Amino acid sequence: MSIPDISRAKSAELYEKAKTYFPGGVNSPVRAFKSVYGTPLFIDKGDGSHIWDADGNEFIDFCCSWGPLILGHNHPAVRNKVIEVMQKGMSFGAPTALENELAELILGNNKYIKKIRFVSSGTEAVMSAIRLARGYTKRDKILKFEGCYHGHTDALLVKAGSGLVTFGETSSAGIPKAFADETIVVALNDKDAVLKAFEDFKDQIAVVIIEPIPANNGLLLQTQDYLDFLRETCTQNGTMLLFDEVISGFRVGFEGAAAYYNIQPDIITYGKIIGGGLPVGAYGASAEVMDHISPVGSVYQAGTLSGNPVAMAAGIAQLSELLQPGFYEQLHAKTADFVKAIEAFVAERGYELRVFTIGSIFWFAFTDRESISTADDIDPASMLKFKVMHRELINRGIYLGPSGYEVGFISSAHTIADLETTKTAIFDSLDIVFNN
Ligand SMILES: *Cc1c(COP(=O)(O)O)cnc(C)c1O
Repeated sequence: MSIPDISRAKSAELYEKAKTYFPGGVNSPVRAFKSVYGTPLFIDKGDGSHIWDADGNEFIDFCCSWGPLILGHNHPAVRNKVIEVMQKGMSFGAPTALENELAELILGNNKYIKKIRFVSSGTEAVMSAIRLARGYTKRDKILKFEGCYHGHTDALLVKAGSGLVTFGETSSAGIPKAFADETIVVALNDKDAVLKAFEDFKDQIAVVIIEPIPANNGLLLQTQDYLDFLRETCTQNGTMLLFDEVISGFRVGFEGAAAYYNIQPDIITYGKIIGGGLPVGAYGASAEVMDHISPVGSVYQAGTLSGNPVAMAAGIAQLSELLQPGFYEQLHAKTADFVKAIEAFVAERGYELRVFTIGSIFWFAFTDRESISTADDIDPASMLKFKVMHRELINRGIYLGPSGYEVGFISSAHTIADLETTKTAIFDSLDIVFNN
């Protein structure tokens, strides 16, 4: 049975105001609730797994700020460390011991990178890493995959044209065609397309960039065999392999997807979890590759607020928690149980829904396909079902990201009781989606 809509009076009022200040009323597009019902909820506060909106509605949150909050909202260890560091000032534009401390935490527990550079967002990390790859290989072209998101940098806001191997077509206005011409776009999970690209552009491809766990356009899990193939093909062609782990880094394990698949990429980018909820990105590689970055190398990259002490403090506090024994095992087991229960319900009812999952990430796909591994495998019409599910879940106090292309995250703050409540809400919502 459908239940009444929650009150959004205050959120709606704030949104009207916001529209006079910001394009579309938001400072990042997906927040505008364009693919779901209702006006965006303006969030007032968060604590643990729960958030409260401006109208006082309470939700169990599975968006978790789009991934960074693996410990949940306002974790005391993170909050206390940030407050402690802030007492001494907020930015110096000079080195601090905190940068060393976060670097030690990461490099001491990650065998896939030997040096790192901190920046202030995932986009910035990827943009810098691409420049590094081009500077290192002295080649211009890059190869990306349809269905992977790498932030909003010019070279990567490109989508596939028609054909097996295509130059990208820009997916945003304001990007010169000449930039998109340096980006080759192929489908995921297609070895032939990659081989053809290397044939067509022999000795021209600087870097292959992939989300090893593509989680920005649904969850398009790739096979071990395919990722191994990419590693081998890059090595054979003198091309760098860049794992964009802004979402998978510190999520599927402390060493991210590189360790999950046991593949050594040439460069790795991080973001989201690394900053504990504050703006931090990073890219890392071998010392030899990283020493191509200024001031020692000829690839320029800088940042006024890079390595900002407050952001470093949040990262240090959060990553320290992740290193506690059993942290990931518990989180993954909790997620697996949650997903299994939903799958069992769906199977019993005969609903056309799959829940794809890895680590503490899950994604609802309204499909009967056994696997979804490319962007084209997703049926856009299925998003109408998500839209109904989203409304019903909001009304039942469950907050998912406002698009069916977005994955959900479970944090260590989600309790078994939270997940029980959520399952009931999901079951009731699915009965409405499928008109039962
Ligand atoms: C979120 C994300 C980015 C962009 O990071 P921002 O901090 O939003 O700039 C890049 N790559 C991947 C894989 C991401 O998930």
